[in-house]
Amino acid sequence: MKVGVLGGGQLARMLALAGRPLGLDFAFLDPAADACAFALGRGLQGDYDDPACLDELAEFAEVVTFEFENVPAAVTERLAARVPVYPPARALAVAQDRLLEKSMFRELGIGTPEFRAIDARGDLDRAAAELGFPFVLKTRHEGYDGKGQRLLREAGELDAAWEQLGGRPLIAEAFVHFEREVSVIAVRARDGEVRCYPLAENEHEDGILAVSRSRPEDPLAEQAQRAAEKLLHQLDYVGVLTLELFDCGGSLLANEFAPRVHNSGHWTIEGTTISQFENHLRAVCGLPLGCTRARGRVAMLNLIGELPPLEPLLALSDVHLHLYDKAPRPGRKIGHLTVWGEDDAQLAARFAEACAHAGRAPHPLG
Ligand code: AMP
Repeated sequence: MKVGVLGGGQLARMLALAGRPLGLDFAFLDPAADACAFALGRGLQGDYDDPACLDELAEFAEVVTFEFENVPAAVTERLAARVPVYPPARALAVAQDRLLEKSMFRELGIGTPEFRAIDARGDLDRAAAELGFPFVLKTRHEGYDGKGQRLLREAGELDAAWEQLGGRPLIAEAFVHFEREVSVIAVRARDGEVRCYPLAENEHEDGILAVSRSRPEDPLAEQAQRAAEKLLHQLDYVGVLTLELFDCGGSLLANEFAPRVHNSGHWTIEGTTISQFENHLRAVCGLPLGCTRARGRVAMLNLIGELPPLEPLLALSDVHLHLYDKAPRPGRKIGHLTVWGEDDAQLAARFAEACAHAGRAPHPLG
């Protein structure tokens, strides 16, 4: 089967690495000439709304999917007229707007931080009065990795925040004093079957995901999985969806969802029977879903900015290296390591060793 992918970055590359053994062929549309997925299929270089590229993609593909959520709605509409596009356009529209997203969480009975729409300067004063300080002001559209948001601690900061972010649709959210950040990845097939992965626990550095680890017996998994399931059914979704949540003393509050495979699920390659990448492809291609059960314990470390010496890492047991074939640049994700252990103790020891060899501060895995 031939799969068209909007985006040619590392997520598209890992989709292709999972899909080629299933006999799938790929074409990728990406504005960058050196998009790292191009090595694994037909590379179409052009803007996402380039009509000639979209025509070529539609001619090639029997199904189209995407690796990032800011695909313009008009693009998926144009493609959907000629070829099935999964996940559905509605999921994209909701994920692209933090207000629609949080409103949907609320409608479905999924806990989420208190929030207010901010369209005028006066709304900001009202939100401050109702939510209290501190609170978080975010752009409704196109924010990621902590970009387009500010933490406001006192009334004196409101004018500056409005100056920086005002003029665009915004959302104010109560600041959540969470104990940890977790995510759950779930997949829904064309026939409506849903399978969920074990919970992942995530740590960020400078707003970018640094470490993600599997938590196969986490007591909150069920709560997270039920929330993801509700979203999948509500959106008549096909493919992998990632729901990010805050753990607030045993109750979960949903922060956002991504309508795609996710960095907090890279560990599923070595840490589950069938990875998020393969299951996304199985879903969008109408194939049977694969088993999402955990295999041992795993933790993933993102390689950001530059690569450490690789040979010492490769000499460690059960450390798996994934390079994305991207030029090193500060803040850029260029690869990741997955460390596998039979149990938490073995994983913690191996992960500490891998961090040391990668020149990273130790991340104690509790
Ligand atoms: P986001 O762009 O919504 O994923 O936010 C980026 C990061 O900011 C999250 O991973 C959290 O660490 C933090 N954050 C976002 N929203 C809140 C909130 N309402 N309360 C506390 N921390 C937040």
